[in-house]
Amino acid sequence: MKVALNGATTMNADLETDIRAASSAGFDYLEIWASKLRAFLKSRSTSDLSHLFVTHGLSPYSINSIERITFRDDTSHRALLDECEELCRIAQAIRCPYVVVVPSPAPKDVLRSDVISESAGVLQELASIAAQHSVALAFEFLGQPDCSVQTLALADEIVKEVSHPNVGLVIDSFHFYAGGSTIESIEALDAEKLFIFHINDAEDLPREQLEDRHRLLPGLGILPLKQIIQALKGIGYNRVASVEIFRPEYWQRNPLQLARDAHAAVLKALEV
Ligand code: ZN
Repeated sequence: MKVALNGATTMNADLETDIRAASSAGFDYLEIWASKLRAFLKSRSTSDLSHLFVTHGLSPYSINSIERITFRDDTSHRALLDECEELCRIAQAIRCPYVVVVPSPAPKDVLRSDVISESAGVLQELASIAAQHSVALAFEFLGQPDCSVQTLALADEIVKEVSHPNVGLVIDSFHFYAGGSTIESIEALDAEKLFIFHINDAEDLPREQLEDRHRLLPGLGILPLKQIIQALKGIGYNRVASVEIFRPEYWQRNPLQLARDAHAAVLKALEV
């Protein structure tokens, strides 16, 4: 598996700093945080950005993320299509293969079958935009109790329903644990449909109390990373493990040092 740094881990750093930090720490890829990308492009171009990646011997892996893609009203849905077009166009220009897309909270009393048909319908529509730009969409379920797609098994069912070569999955170890996904649901996957593995650890709290701010560097918490990674290797997943942590305490640290710590932690975690 190659390794990536996700721009959320160093949230307070700008995109150029993320590129420098990921490169000097030894990462292969950067997952670009979308708001940092927009800030960068206010004064510079996509070719400036490509040049920065090349200069630093690093490649972009994804743009994170388009959030709350489902259960939108008409106006908001049209804005979603525009956002997808915008990010896929940029991704194509900088040769970034993936854009991450995230489901919405569940409307009250929604049926599982409605979640599947809504999610599959929206993903199909977004996939046709992404395909025009030779970009693929990575669908990331969230483990928090209010999310409409809380488990890997349901996300996989939706992606199978979409059945589009440009739509696949993200497994985020935090969401995998918080939402109660099973190792068997990893073993049931087609590794080709798993585009990204977000790796992180978490504090020792009851699942329903876990929030993004409780994430930790791999190896410092209670997530079953060993079992998850063994299962990923067992299905032949060999794309990217990307360190994605939303911990405000880490955001205060020097991003270059944090990237070095993250790189050491992910390599150690992958040694199972
Ligand atoms: Zn994630």
